[in-house]
Amino acid sequence: MTNHIAAGIRDSSSEVFLHDAGEWLERTMLRLRQRFAVWEFPHPECRRHWNEELCRANLVALTWPREYGGRALDTQTLIRFHEMCAVLRAPQPLNSIAHSILAPTLLQFGTDDQKRRFLEGIRLGTEIWCQGYSEPSAGSDLASVASRARIEGGRWIVNGHKIWTTQAHAAHWCFALLRTQADAMAHKGLSFMLIDMKAAGVRVQPIRQITGEADYNECFFEDVEVPLTDLVGEEGDGWRIAMAAAEYERGIYFLPRVIQLQAELDEVLELSARQTLAEAPRTQLSARLAGLSDTCAVIRMRVDAILERVAKGKTPGVDGTVLKLLWSEARQSVMEIRMELLGEMAAIGPAAAERFPMAAGAAREFLWSRAETIVAGTSEVQRNIIAERILGLPKG
Ligand SMILES: Cc1cc2nc3c(=O)[nH]c(=O)nc-3n(C[C@H](O)[C@H](O)[C@H](O)COP(=O)(O)OP(=O)(O)OC[C@H]3O[C@@H](n4cnc5c(N)ncnc54)[C@H](O)[C@@H]3O)c2cc1C
Repeated sequence: MTNHIAAGIRDSSSEVFLHDAGEWLERTMLRLRQRFAVWEFPHPECRRHWNEELCRANLVALTWPREYGGRALDTQTLIRFHEMCAVLRAPQPLNSIAHSILAPTLLQFGTDDQKRRFLEGIRLGTEIWCQGYSEPSAGSDLASVASRARIEGGRWIVNGHKIWTTQAHAAHWCFALLRTQADAMAHKGLSFMLIDMKAAGVRVQPIRQITGEADYNECFFEDVEVPLTDLVGEEGDGWRIAMAAAEYERGIYFLPRVIQLQAELDEVLELSARQTLAEAPRTQLSARLAGLSDTCAVIRMRVDAILERVAKGKTPGVDGTVLKLLWSEARQSVMEIRMELLGEMAAIGPAAAERFPMAAGAAREFLWSRAETIVAGTSEVQRNIIAERILGLPKG
């Protein structure tokens, strides 16, 4: 059982918790800023450190039941805590995939033993997770997953190839979508399985990105043995479970990013106000920024509506799709304008950190933002969903 006043944060009520957590956040962010520059916040080292800080203070299990070491707080409180983190521009913890996607999925679909076994490592930060869904021929069309698992000798035997697996190189475990019925079509016959990344037959090969980093990987599974007990839910029910997990992803997972987008836009507005521009480019820039400010306001309103649903125990539904589309495209535009305004200064990168802190991480963030219209569903696919499910247009 956890220490419920870890780091001096009481949880006797939501108000008390938020008060203590707010003070903790202020103190801890101050320390973090002494150790890492703001432009280093998206880097894995800083994100790992932040994960450890949150775990030490028992702040990743806010809504989990007490029997699993959680604080048993309500979703509204969880949302408010995430908002506080975002306002202070806290980094995304390294294990956020596990906090926001896997943990709620296990709580909903896992057995008691699975909850006991796996939630602890997430809460304490001792086990980092990655998400093994995409394959070379199964991205947008996830239902065509071809990696397989079959039962042999009282174990699952897994063979296959996953790709774009974020932080697989640092992960202890992977939650994966695998085909367990060879002849079943599309999303039928898929299962949701937990794979030990240290098991024999697992090979991880990093993919070098345009930013120069290598946070994404290809994962090869060759006759990897998985205990029968590491199947989540029923065999063949993996699609339903993965879709529920995706709903969690679109719920509070995006909240900090959305709040931070407003802060990023504010910085660009400030930067723009300091620039001397001729009349025509100034008018053009002002129009672009005004459009983005409007989009940000719309995004915020939509987030609030979604969070209200989530707080009532509902899923974000198709609104999460709209939000993801608006946010990722708006952020790309904000990053583009920031690069234009910084000009060659942005190319100096971290070497500019002392004199131009904003320029230090601008190129990296600009390049990274290109991935945001792909990750968690491409813009084209989001538009298809909106066309079919909101506008009622016929399937293309
Ligand atoms: C930063 C980042 C992190 C990621 N992390 C993970 C992870 O941890 N785990 C994981 O499993 N996956 C991860 N992914 C993979 C991600 O989920 C896929 O890249 C995404 O689903 C798109 O699939 P794909 O790359 O195979 O592209 P494809 O599906 O091959 O699409 C190629 C192009 O065709 C378009 N297209 C495809 N289908 C349609 C259609 N029906 N209508 C119109 N256009 C269409 C797409 O929009 C895209 O432009 C990550 C991706 C990124 C960029």
